Amino acid sequence: MTDLLAATTMSTATDAAPAPGPAPTVDHIATPLTDARAQLAEAIGLLGYENGLHQMLATPRRELTVAVPLRLDSGESRLYIGHRVQHNFSRGPAKGGLRYAPNVNLDEVRALAMWMTWKCALLDVPYGGAKGGLAIDPREHSMAELERVTRRYTSEILPIIGPERDIPAPDIGTDEQTMAWIMDTYSVNSGYTVPGIVTGKPIALGGSQGRASATSRGVTHIALAALRHVGLDPARSTAAVQGFGKVGADAARFLSAAGVRVTAVSDQYGAILNTGGLDVEALSEHVRATGSVVGFPGGDALDGADLLTQDVDLLVPAAVEGVLHDGNAGDVLARVIVEGANGPTTPAADRILRERGILVVPDILANAGGVIVSYFEWVQANQAYWWRADEVESRLEERMLSAWQHVLGYAEARDLSLRTAATALAVERVAEAHRLRGLYP
Ligand code: NAD
Repeated sequence: MTDLLAATTMSTATDAAPAPGPAPTVDHIATPLTDARAQLAEAIGLLGYENGLHQMLATPRRELTVAVPLRLDSGESRLYIGHRVQHNFSRGPAKGGLRYAPNVNLDEVRALAMWMTWKCALLDVPYGGAKGGLAIDPREHSMAELERVTRRYTSEILPIIGPERDIPAPDIGTDEQTMAWIMDTYSVNSGYTVPGIVTGKPIALGGSQGRASATSRGVTHIALAALRHVGLDPARSTAAVQGFGKVGADAARFLSAAGVRVTAVSDQYGAILNTGGLDVEALSEHVRATGSVVGFPGGDALDGADLLTQDVDLLVPAAVEGVLHDGNAGDVLARVIVEGANGPTTPAADRILRERGILVVPDILANAGGVIVSYFEWVQANQAYWWRADEVESRLEERMLSAWQHVLGYAEARDLSLRTAATALAVERVAEAHRLRGLYP
């Protein structure tokens, strides 16, 4: 395979205009993008914005689809398709993670980019939203192959990224090593070192203290506040965590350290249960050694789907989108759901859970710890001045808890779900920036 096969398309997503009218109510047509647009439509209805503004906010400003050829260690080559979607720039440079997963597609990346815009606005970090994806299974590749494919993907999207344009970060299937390769590729092409091009990079390259665990710390701050809000004592509460990756594993660890009994955990291979409480540190060791929670001797095997309907106080979905839907929301027994993942709850499930009195803390609030410390990392890199871990942690906690109070107050004053309140607050901020800047020309 030669580079002649590498094709690049760049567009503004005119096919992404929202379908005016009511939000879809049937889950079998739900996708992350229909979910994201339904949530936006609800917020727009509440805010009373006109259709032109609605269309603008529902449509990414810029999309780039690239073909990424990879030379395998065997000498053969393969072609992968990648995307970078920049949803909005009204409040600053676009910001968002990069996902490596076999089922990545443009619509999913569009939805994730839109959620990033709302998350950054809600937490008042001066960014718009973006997301990237490469349709690849990283587990099928050696480190050398992952390095080559990352460098080639970076080269293909180079024209639209930059520390003042669009700043990638880790997401599913990528990590700080991926960020180091992106930083190096971008820097070599610039002729000088540009640490602000990515966040979530290794500390030795200008990464921030506390970035690796920031999303999980934020999830934990919010989970403890939400449990107390519904009258539960965290030290007497139980939790189930779906996904044991960068977000789920540390969330389980921090919750456990805070006294919450974590009784069930899952990953893409299966789940485990111990109603007496899992030893999360020992489980992490097991995952490091075997690659999965499956077979952990300190728990019993559980069907992955049953994790979501465990009889626990707190459920933390921290894996993928759309896992709570109209087929299982009626069976959820948790009192509080804190969304570590992006988009784990469909709008139909949201309605069912609200009717059943289950408090759902939405992704754009609950998992915002990562982008907050990414912002801190970008600020530190731009100033070449680094903060202590305790400074990062206290500023993270302060921002998370003040956003929690703000969203809670807004929701209670208007009898809204936390998701509708959070989305409306965020959309209002983006719309205000757009209004102040005016429409060019
Ligand atoms: P990761 O690749 O480190 O971990 C993903 C985990 O989910 C793995 O344990 C995997 O086995 C598991 N998983 C995948 N499919 C599953 C399924 N169907 N059922 C159960 N488990 C499954 O990814 P991550 O960075 O931890 O991201 C997880 C979620 O959190 C994603 O939605 C991501 O967008 C979101 N998120 C991540 C960050 C971050 O800083 N990494 C920040 C905000 C939000």
